[in-house]
Amino acid sequence: MSNFRTLDDVGDVSGKVALVRVDLNLPMNGGQVTDKTRINASAPTILELADAGAKVLLLAHFGRPKGARNSTMSLSMVVDAVQDVLGREIMFVPEVAGDIVAQSIGIMRNGDISILENTRFWPGEEKNDPEFAKAIAANADLYVNDAFSAAHRAHASTEGLTKLLPSYAGRSMQKELEALDKALGNPEKPVAAVVGGAKVSSKLDVLKHLVGQVDHLIIGGGMANTFLAARGVDVGKSLCEHDLTGTAEAIMEAADQSGCTVHLPYDVVVSQEFAANPASLRTCNVHEVAENEMILDVGPQAVEALGDVLKTCRTLVWNGPMGAFETEPFDTATVALAKTAAALSKEGSLVSVAGGGDTVAALNHAGVAQDFTYISTAGGAFLEWMEGKELLGVAALSL
Ligand code: ADP
Ligand code: MG
Repeated sequence: MSNFRTLDDVGDVSGKVALVRVDLNLPMNGGQVTDKTRINASAPTILELADAGAKVLLLAHFGRPKGARNSTMSLSMVVDAVQDVLGREIMFVPEVAGDIVAQSIGIMRNGDISILENTRFWPGEEKNDPEFAKAIAANADLYVNDAFSAAHRAHASTEGLTKLLPSYAGRSMQKELEALDKALGNPEKPVAAVVGGAKVSSKLDVLKHLVGQVDHLIIGGGMANTFLAARGVDVGKSLCEHDLTGTAEAIMEAADQSGCTVHLPYDVVVSQEFAANPASLRTCNVHEVAENEMILDVGPQAVEALGDVLKTCRTLVWNGPMGAFETEPFDTATVALAKTAAALSKEGSLVSVAGGGDTVAALNHAGVAQDFTYISTAGGAFLEWMEGKELLGVAALSL
């Protein structure tokens, strides 16, 4: 990864207008913000700029209003939550460009913070229209992107503005990029990847990219069934993409050629129905799955062997749970492997980076998220990074 500009390069910002792209796409329920994680993530960047005397304009999208104003998706709804986290009074400006923004800046003192309206109320945002970006940039002196989660999209507020203003990565963006670089860009070897989750089809590009990057590819979850089927295992009524067994085979061949060892479970936890603690629950060898059974978790012997693999590795990147972890006891393999990874990270022998909506939920469920080296909460952007793609919003910040 190339170097990128950070707030360390920003110089004197006193009296300057800083547009700060943040993630305010917050979970809401009945008009109330239910989780402030994303605000917390960008608080250091916002406060650092404000405390250095900048006039800070927060720029973000919310939901999918499709290029038109929609009062149910106005960012005015998140002002209270942002005020709570930052401990400062915040002004809301119902525009992103034009005279009203200019007038608002006129009444802001150095160090004041405002939230601009939802960028996606204007069609120019998602089209990355240069004229729209120009209109936003006209009121500002510099641009800071602190929203890694939106960095895979080339929109006006993530990419367009970087062409018009001096641009920098915020602290949260910086932390994320540095962690990801340590895990795949420039990792200490050997490197292991754990890829799980429901389907091969949703992570084909991830698997294809990883086999050329890592020493050990550990495949679990529903997608392991497709790989097992490709190896001639009868997976009964397990979730399995039989039309993708050829693809799975090709991935395993590519792995062989690049010296990547693919690990599939050799024992599994099965049951006849998908329910918590079902009567038909049993553990068996992958070759003993009955026609009326489905595989819902990796078995205990395989989990132990996978833990031993992790002990030989220096770096781990993890996306996707090993089993149907939302339902007991099919969380067992995920929890056990997560605990091993967390313990190795804590003692300093493993750099561990994990991401993905369900993965983060699973690691929290295992109670070990805080012991991982880094947890990415960016869904789509994290997956695109695992696919080896250059994130357009990030590329635009490079030196
Ligand atoms: P992430 O959101 O972290 O990228 P995914 O969405 O790809 O992860 O996958 C998570 C889902 O995969 C979970 O809902 C989990 O229940 C499901 N899953 C894992 N293993 C199995 C399995 N053996 N059979 C069916 N579903 C599974
Ligand atoms: Mg998911």
